[in-house]
Amino acid sequence: MSDDSINRKYSILLVDDERTNLVLDRVLSAEYSTLMAHSGGEALKLALENVPDIILLDVLMPDISGFDVLVKLKDNPVTMKIPVIFITSLINDEDEERSFLLGAVDYIKKPCKDTIVKARVNTHLQIVHQMRLNERLGTIDPLTDLHNRRSFNERIDLEWKRAMRDKKPISFLMTDVDNFKTYNDTYGHPQGDTLLKAVAKILSSSAKRPADMVARLGGEEFGILLPDTDEDAVLTIAENIRKNVEAAQIPTANGKTITSVTISIGAVSTVPVASDAAGVDKFIVKADEYLYEAKKAGRNRVYFKKST
Ligand code: GH3
Ligand code: MG
Ligand code: MG
Repeated sequence: MSDDSINRKYSILLVDDERTNLVLDRVLSAEYSTLMAHSGGEALKLALENVPDIILLDVLMPDISGFDVLVKLKDNPVTMKIPVIFITSLINDEDEERSFLLGAVDYIKKPCKDTIVKARVNTHLQIVHQMRLNERLGTIDPLTDLHNRRSFNERIDLEWKRAMRDKKPISFLMTDVDNFKTYNDTYGHPQGDTLLKAVAKILSSSAKRPADMVARLGGEEFGILLPDTDEDAVLTIAENIRKNVEAAQIPTANGKTITSVTISIGAVSTVPVASDAAGVDKFIVKADEYLYEAKKAGRNRVYFKKST
């Protein structure tokens, strides 16, 4: 990605079949370059042609509803990454919930002060900016927005050394989605991708401490690094993560079918010592072996062995 795409003026696509957003257009165009669409169809066309940095989308429109526009945007690799904020007078919780499940980043209820809309747009554009910087550094997995294996390897090396120096425990969970091949075969590869993104979100929200790191290590395999976490805590955390994934209900693109999956986890914890030559590599291999044990024992479980 070029510097240009990071530093240029951000572009916003405003979609509303009524004229109400014209005022908003004036407020936003002072700082950003804005485009207006007056129907769902026009919105999709302009999004594809211009690939704006963010889209403000109305829900109720005569031709295609905002929800369907969002589904179509998410279905196309060109537009799938554009953050979408709904601005709507629909005010029930179900619609708001549905928006987030379909992948909207925000939901603003009309009437809303233009300055507040602008502040929220700013926040999301800052995230866009940060993501692009990270992607440029090659440390982010583009599907899930998690750290990739390279980024993970660098971090675990650092944390391992820090734990050794401070004589503190370090823990690591190796996780793999169960029977993911069957999931792909049943619902299709794009839905498989959606599922991986959902799992990534659950893992991120389950490993909450600032030093925790969730990474996509490859395919349907995720690693969770837990610095300063001892073997008494790691089993609880792993079990909690396993349960959160099991409980999650992940809708298909049309929202009609609800799916779910489970994960298996290999959990390891240690206080690293300098005499342990193979060190961090052995630690990771052990987590992988424990993951295999969890699979062998029937999947949807955590495998862990206490040191004593
Ligand atoms: P197990 O419980 O033993 O882990 O069974 P599994 O079916 O999950 O494991 P297997 O290794 O047989 O299959 C992994 C599948 O994951 C096969 C591959 O197509 C799929 N996969 C890997 N990366 C991606 C991806 O990025 N997106 C999608 N949709 N599928 C992926
Ligand atoms: Mg698997
Ligand atoms: Mg696998």
